[in-house]
Amino acid sequence: MNEILDEIIYENRKYLCEGQVASYIPELKNGNKDALGIYITTLEGKEYFGGDYYTKFTIQSISKIITLALAIMDNGIEYVFSKVGMEPTTEAFNSIVDLEMKNLNKPLNPMINAGAIAISSMIKGDTSEEAFSRVLDFVRKLSGNEELDLNYNVYVSEKKTGNRNRSLAYFMKSTGVIENDVEAVLDVYFKQCSIEVTCKDLSKIAAVFANNGVIPWTGERIIEKEVAQIVKTIMVTCGMYDGSGEFAVKIGLPAKSGVGGGILGVSPNKMGIGIVGPSLDKRGNSIGGVEVLKDLSQKLDLSIF
Ligand code: GLN
Repeated sequence: MNEILDEIIYENRKYLCEGQVASYIPELKNGNKDALGIYITTLEGKEYFGGDYYTKFTIQSISKIITLALAIMDNGIEYVFSKVGMEPTTEAFNSIVDLEMKNLNKPLNPMINAGAIAISSMIKGDTSEEAFSRVLDFVRKLSGNEELDLNYNVYVSEKKTGNRNRSLAYFMKSTGVIENDVEAVLDVYFKQCSIEVTCKDLSKIAAVFANNGVIPWTGERIIEKEVAQIVKTIMVTCGMYDGSGEFAVKIGLPAKSGVGGGILGVSPNKMGIGIVGPSLDKRGNSIGGVEVLKDLSQKLDLSIF
């Protein structure tokens, strides 16, 4: 299996030069455009890897599936989806236009920035520090990696330059979607995006979702089954932003990408997949990573459809 993975990585390195490392968050410019790697954790406990799987990067939008699960467990399904919708978008992940124009009075879904910021406002905690520390503990438990922490430079860089996110958040405060202090909510959001991981960590988190919320290596249920199912469904419809439809046709797996270059893929009841490839396509998805997942899905017949 490691040979198959190395071969898939080798075949798809050619796409990396067609993409760009994210630069709108200045610190992300330091990402390695040439890196491409994969890590797989099966539900039977086998692990496989290929390419530059040891590369570190920030989790970015992949954190949105983790906070969604936590927010639902904190507040219940009904409350969360009274504030954030479940529908995909054709706009970019940081778009403002849907917020006012769609006339729903709430962000379209929890995977775009507006929806994810609203979700961060629902994480319980007396202070934003406490809310973030609950997120970090949850990520550590899901990945089985107690050492995970935030990349402070990325956090500061994003906090300094995140004016688009700030405007989304203040707009949502004005419409009542966000009820608490906007800057405190944004602090949780910027920190959750800045958690540093490898694709091994992503594959472990994905394996928990593949196992419907039970940690495969301890047997402990950490996410209710219904919540895990909701998160996976929203990953299929919205996880790759405005590229989710094409991704579902070509790859057919619940997945979530981030502008740090990661993709987390879930093969239900089989395995968790983590990808790193900081060179991004125009939608903000890892350009090599999507191709790697396509080849993997075809070779192993993984499409859920
Ligand atoms: N932190 C990034 C942002 O808010 C996350 C976006 C992403 O990964 N697509 O812009």
